[in-house]
Amino acid sequence: QVARTHEPRYDVTALKEELKMHRIQVLSKQFNLDSEAGQQVGVTLFPTAGSQAYDRPPLIKDRSDYERLHKWSIDDPAGFWAEIAKDFFWSKKWDDNHHTYNFDMRKGRIECNWFKGGKTNITYNCLDRWVASGHGNQLCFIWEGNDLGHERVMTYQQVLNDVCRVANWLRAQGVKKGDCVTIYLPMICELPIAMLACARIGAVHSVVFAGFSADALAQRIQDCKSKLLFTSSAVNRGPKRVDLKHIVDDAISIAERNGYKGVKRVLVYEKSALPREQTPWVAGRDVWWRDEIPNRPEFCSPEWMDAEDPLFMLYTSGSTGQPKGVLHTTGGYMVQTGTANKYVFDLRPGDVYWCTADCGWITGHTFLTYGPLLNGASCVLFGSTPAYPDPGRCWNMIEKYKVRVFYTAPTLLRSLMQFGDKWVTAHDRSSLRILGTVGEPINPHAWNWFNEVVGEKRCPIVDTWWQTETGAAMITPLPYAWATKPGSATLPFFGVQPVILNDKGEELQGACEGILAIKKPWPSIMRTVYGDHERFEKTYFSAFKGYYFTGDGCRRDEDGYYWITGRVDDVINVSGHRVGTAEVESALTSHPQCAEAAVIGTPHNIKGEAVYAYVTMLSESDCTPAMKKELVEIVKRQIGSFAIPDCIHWAPGLPKTRSGKIMRRILRKIATGAYDELGDTSTLAEPGVVDTLISMKGK
Ligand code: ATP
Ligand code: MG
Repeated sequence: QVARTHEPRYDVTALKEELKMHRIQVLSKQFNLDSEAGQQVGVTLFPTAGSQAYDRPPLIKDRSDYERLHKWSIDDPAGFWAEIAKDFFWSKKWDDNHHTYNFDMRKGRIECNWFKGGKTNITYNCLDRWVASGHGNQLCFIWEGNDLGHERVMTYQQVLNDVCRVANWLRAQGVKKGDCVTIYLPMICELPIAMLACARIGAVHSVVFAGFSADALAQRIQDCKSKLLFTSSAVNRGPKRVDLKHIVDDAISIAERNGYKGVKRVLVYEKSALPREQTPWVAGRDVWWRDEIPNRPEFCSPEWMDAEDPLFMLYTSGSTGQPKGVLHTTGGYMVQTGTANKYVFDLRPGDVYWCTADCGWITGHTFLTYGPLLNGASCVLFGSTPAYPDPGRCWNMIEKYKVRVFYTAPTLLRSLMQFGDKWVTAHDRSSLRILGTVGEPINPHAWNWFNEVVGEKRCPIVDTWWQTETGAAMITPLPYAWATKPGSATLPFFGVQPVILNDKGEELQGACEGILAIKKPWPSIMRTVYGDHERFEKTYFSAFKGYYFTGDGCRRDEDGYYWITGRVDDVINVSGHRVGTAEVESALTSHPQCAEAAVIGTPHNIKGEAVYAYVTMLSESDCTPAMKKELVEIVKRQIGSFAIPDCIHWAPGLPKTRSGKIMRRILRKIATGAYDELGDTSTLAEPGVVDTLISMKGK
């Protein structure tokens, strides 16, 4: 009876019918290479030979195919990307000399331009293009909400119409090209729709994960001077209700107290979690989505943007410090994002594609909104948590929607592994073709589980290394093109030239280990830290002159594969041995009773640094002195005695960012007892774990 009251546009039976029809349509859709979509695959540029292992020829068939293209992309980046960019729609072509940059602070201001002179609109490429070519009835979004049975589908045509309605509303509010708009919405279709609506008219969106506190939201509203905000009345996440509108009101008051009084309008989407009558309201400022949007005209002409006009800004996760407002521009981001999504997931129009990220993170921008829509995919949007109401939720959804590509984070896998294989195997996963992970190094134990249990050893796993700053995947396998190794992101994507530097900034050759940097700019590189170009130059270009500094440690093996070893700050130097945090963590988590581990370095009189490990066991009864011995033994066997933790600290939970990354800087403070120096904890998912960890010290 509660079902679907918050989705007034559909009734349940009609929806089920619609879904059934579309699923069949989606699955039977074959794009032949002569169709418009086929041409975008670029038949001449990317020959595709048959592959036994695959139900259709992959876009990149093997390593030599890749190497030829990668070499071209490095030798002639401007020419290579211009060729790729032809597959997108531009209202004006870019200049001949479209790629100019300075990557070296000694020569002045750091800057980068791609497709200079070109004009386009990313939403035109994401939506109008498909509708115009007769694919308007194809599914764009397949949404599943918090509660079972809350489902909704939207076709490309419907999404285009809604994007236009919201865009028209934004224009009517006086929002212009270049204005910043803050989006604080839960994972409902309206979230990507709001992003696309901003992009439609050239407004710069700043999505803030709807789970951040009022303080964190206030800071982000103020920093980009938003005049307008999107939110919803509330949202249920698992068994909990989060009162988003309430948080927004608090955030606006906080910003006002801090001197920013610019928020003029708040558009509120009503969710059944909190009906209208109970939603706190500021008359004159707040308006309801349902009153404002549906009656707007369903077409809005796109703002033709210069390639270098800003598209969006987004704050980093804040794992290593105060979040940075990363700014991305239109042309380069569009071209590289579409291209990365296409090749990394071998994506074709009509593929059912599920990326579990929230739009509040870069992954939700690149690999949930822009990338898949640029490729005409059907995207699953998930508005709940993976183990709610039971740990079979994700696998059930894969079965139900016949998901082809499943892209997630190691933290999600580790959390679901704990419940055992039966939750997975109870569901049919035969639709799966490609699996992916992002966000942290994946420990081989989780990788193997993903491969064997989830993918039944028939789905390549793409472990994609990248950052908010890089805009798209940088080091990543291409499915079926070469063999993967558990825990390695393997080889650089087209146009990416990684190098491994020593502490002096010298490039190391062959198999080696050091600091990961990037030598040449790529189209989707961030252009600045919003409002603070100096911080941009200092953070990324001052450590090693002439290189983009990633902040990550990395090893290259004899096959040329890259292995991320953790943050540079986290590489521990024990008696002269460089110990990667990721390596020790994966040794610890290879113990069958160990759910998760986080390793840091602490100062040590003799060794310089000592390994300090926080370990989460599957059950509390495993936290025994005997178990500590077993864990030590595993590290000794897999890495060596120099890497043995001096201290094992039982951790019922770990401090993580909202995107699931472990905040090791907080763990360092706890280990050394510097409790008053915990720093910015506003991006922590559960602040309570800090106190618990402190209480577990020495146990
Ligand atoms: P901040 O920069 O504010 O500290 P953050 O670095 O956590 O935040 P993100 O841009 O979300 O913000 O994360 C990028 C980082 O995530 C990378 O620098 C890397 O450390 C880690 N990472 C992402 N993908 C992978 C991967 N596949 N393997 C290993 N590490 C990864
Ligand atoms: Mg970072």
